[in-house]
Amino acid sequence: MTRQILVVSTLAELDTARQKLAGPVGLVPTMGALHAGHISLVKLALEECASVLVSIFVNPTQFGANEDLAKYPRAIERDLELSTAAGEDLLWTPTAEGMYPPGFQAWVEVGEMTRTLEGAMRPGHFRGVTTVVAKLFSAVRPDRAYFGQKDAQQAAVIRQMTRDLNFPIEIVVGPTIREDDGLALSSRNEFLQGPERSAATVLYRSLNAAKTAYEKGERDGEKLRSVMKDTLALEPLANVQYVSCADYATLQELAHVEGKTLLSMAVFVGKTRLIDNFVLG
Ligand code: AMP
Repeated sequence: MTRQILVVSTLAELDTARQKLAGPVGLVPTMGALHAGHISLVKLALEECASVLVSIFVNPTQFGANEDLAKYPRAIERDLELSTAAGEDLLWTPTAEGMYPPGFQAWVEVGEMTRTLEGAMRPGHFRGVTTVVAKLFSAVRPDRAYFGQKDAQQAAVIRQMTRDLNFPIEIVVGPTIREDDGLALSSRNEFLQGPERSAATVLYRSLNAAKTAYEKGERDGEKLRSVMKDTLALEPLANVQYVSCADYATLQELAHVEGKTLLSMAVFVGKTRLIDNFVLG
């Protein structure tokens, strides 16, 4: 039998509903337009927690002035259907006014590690992310919170914030869920037009090329970056923003690969900005 899902919006409603949840409570923060990547995190949370709460909030403070906040996909009816099928207990859909009331001026910022990769390309992005996630944590008080490896830097930054601010929350990172042809699922994939859809597999192909080189013994960071760039260059619809071979923990670029390593990239395919990554070692 399908469990009835409760949908709440205000903080007061959330609080009342939260008090009735059996622990441990798992939180899966999302921006909606749910897909199998989000649902995999819900399933993971359901395996490990007595109650699971999903939040859907397109957080305005993590979008830059020139980014796609207005056209970011919103699909609340379908999100409700998918959420009900997934079997979570509570769906929280805060409003922007509820999260950022007039006069709001407290920000949560993580340092050094937010200045590379996505942080370098999207100034202010991680300040928006950490601020909203800190607010979600304070409101929900989950025992565990679930994030996707797809957004590797985000997961690392949130882990750091959780440790530095002593949130008593375990951060769990679930694997990247992909289409059959390797394209990482993303709410933004629906923007890909015609031939852009197959061109978008170039991110996965270039990560695989670098992984193969690594498995054959390549440990030179610059060479691994070149392998990725060379594959990306073969795709005329792809416009590379960055390609990185960085230390998994510090996210600093590596000259020589030794321990756990993050290969990552941001690539425009047409007007759609896609990111993807692999972890080595
Ligand atoms: P978003 O709605 O894009 O903010 O994503 C919400 C959560 O789902 C984040 O923790 C993402 O890392 C995660 N996520 C997004 N896409 C995927 C995917 N393809 N596989 C696994 N997790 C994902």
